[in-house]
Amino acid sequence: MKKSPFLLLAACFALTFSGCAQNPVSGGQDFVMMSESQEIALGRKADIDVRKQYKVYNNAALQKYVNDVGQKIARQSHRPNLNYHFTVLDSPEINAFALPGGYVYITRGILAYLNSEAEMAAVLGHEIGHVTARHGVKQQSASKATNIGISLAKILVPQLNNQAFQDVGNLLGGALLSGYGREHELEADRLGAQYLARTEYDPQAMIRVVGVLKNQELFDAEIAKQEGREPRRYHGTFATHPDSDTRLQQVVGEAKNLTVTNPVENKNEFLQQSAGLVFGDSVDEGVVRDNRFTHRDLGIALTFPPEWSVKNSSAQLVALNPQRDAAIEFQVTKPSGTPGEFARRMLPNPTGMETLPIANLPAAIAENSNALAGVIYGENKAFLVLGTTKSPQVLAAQRETIKTTIRSFRLLSEEERKAIKPLTIQLSHAQSGDTYAKLAQRSPLGKNADKYLRLINEQYPAGEPVAGQTVKTVE
Ligand SMILES: [Zn+2]
Repeated sequence: MKKSPFLLLAACFALTFSGCAQNPVSGGQDFVMMSESQEIALGRKADIDVRKQYKVYNNAALQKYVNDVGQKIARQSHRPNLNYHFTVLDSPEINAFALPGGYVYITRGILAYLNSEAEMAAVLGHEIGHVTARHGVKQQSASKATNIGISLAKILVPQLNNQAFQDVGNLLGGALLSGYGREHELEADRLGAQYLARTEYDPQAMIRVVGVLKNQELFDAEIAKQEGREPRRYHGTFATHPDSDTRLQQVVGEAKNLTVTNPVENKNEFLQQSAGLVFGDSVDEGVVRDNRFTHRDLGIALTFPPEWSVKNSSAQLVALNPQRDAAIEFQVTKPSGTPGEFARRMLPNPTGMETLPIANLPAAIAENSNALAGVIYGENKAFLVLGTTKSPQVLAAQRETIKTTIRSFRLLSEEERKAIKPLTIQLSHAQSGDTYAKLAQRSPLGKNADKYLRLINEQYPAGEPVAGQTVKTVE
């Protein structure tokens, strides 16, 4: 095959302008095919994609607070002259990530589980470490192409806890999921710890943050057992608990020569900033309170059985019974034919068919040996409630419960729509005798409320509030 002279020329050109760049951290040469201006341009382009995937969290005061802390740390980094951008994303995912060129993102989801400004600084410092060490650029050079043309520097959290993330992950390609290897993560921890010390925070906050994430993993393992599924796998970063992770201790410990005598913790200021923070689903995805699902834009409500665990994500809404042998799923689609015809398509050869109004709307419920399908037409939409069970015996036991859920469907009035509020973090002072079990009784978080409360207050798995302590609750 004849080589094109133009291609050869183009290759030389690229080499001259962006061959070996100097690494800002080590001062050595990196084999990255990218200049700093290319890196910034890449980050700027990918930032547009991130803002399409996620929404920016609508709270100017919190955005400013995060940006102020981030800029302070960035000025003490190995690349103080880069133009950094810190953005809080409106996502329940527990995550933070960085793009090349100085774009750093932190979710409201992870902020809910942090308990001081120093911990938030540790998350931001770790991400700044990815930027200064040019991990994103190196990964980009190594893997060349992903769907968005860039590998997102994954934080501390390798796999995320919900479906919404998986959707994004699928869209962005495998690079997001695979994250960085152990070496890059440790380097980001090492650099982050240094930057913390230089900005008068305690570098040990880095280890506490890794502990926060480790507890998420332990919690997921517990929930996975309840739900009879495999726990989500995390990559090597969290193979061991941070307290016994000698390499993590070592890289963070390197910052000790810089450690300040009176480190800034700013616990109270951070907690004040957290008050009112949206927890879990945003209103756009529908809100579940005490097993009642309401959706403002769709203008609907559906009440699941009290003991069932309800999972809501942008991809699906599904509830499981405690025995895990029955599920109810809710979907919205376009109507086609009558509700009865629709139900018959969902459950071919039904053994039973009931045509009835539900909440004064045309509806039908079809049944076969182990499932019930409810179809309700309203507002030019078809609302589907599908109850499936493991066996005819289970259906016999759960039939009325599932039917009650189907019949609980209704449209909301304008006032009811407007009144839908997301769950939010609130602050209170613990009284003597308060326990998380007690606080959980009046929590809208459902059956694992005590565990969530311990996690957000960093007292998982067995801590209890001390009288006078500021406690975060979810209301
Ligand atoms: Zn990382």
